[in-house]
Amino acid sequence: MRRGLLLDRDGVVNVDRGYVGTIEQFEFTPGLFPFLRAATDHGYRLAILTNQSGVARGLYREDDFHALTAWMLDQLQKQGLSINLMLGCCEHPEGSVLPYARESFWRKPSPGMVLEAVQRLHLDPVNSAFLGDQPRDMEAARLGGIGHQLLLNASAELGEGVIRVHNFDEALKSLIRPVGIPLDN
Ligand SMILES: [Mg+2]
Repeated sequence: MRRGLLLDRDGVVNVDRGYVGTIEQFEFTPGLFPFLRAATDHGYRLAILTNQSGVARGLYREDDFHALTAWMLDQLQKQGLSINLMLGCCEHPEGSVLPYARESFWRKPSPGMVLEAVQRLHLDPVNSAFLGDQPRDMEAARLGGIGHQLLLNASAELGEGVIRVHNFDEALKSLIRPVGIPLDN
């Protein structure tokens, strides 16, 4: 089993401008590329897990999300970065667009996407990490059994066990800590 680094998208991978649905609105967060390169070098498999209620709300279409995702993954590939899994949840119970206007186990803070990533990437959840910018990311990670919950947000409330990081350098330091080695056998 491998260690995984699960990433929220808006506010982590890209600057959160609120319902980013087009390439024009999408700006990679400064420092992301070297951070992901270092995480990869330390053996982490990478997944991006994103709530995209903008689809349910009618702000952009699922096709727009897929097109933006394809462009984003291509840009990352040009930086030598492979994202092993990309998952999005377009549903929201207060949405207006069918069939997306409904509850979803995939929508964070529910752990559906986390569990899916653990299974598909054969991750060791306890030694995996989730880097998000909202408490709902941390809650999804906790419910999904992810051992390290890193909150990239200076002001959001810290849940139990959550580590606050202020930038990618601090996140990386948390990721490259030694993996626990049992000393009693
Ligand atoms: Mg976010």
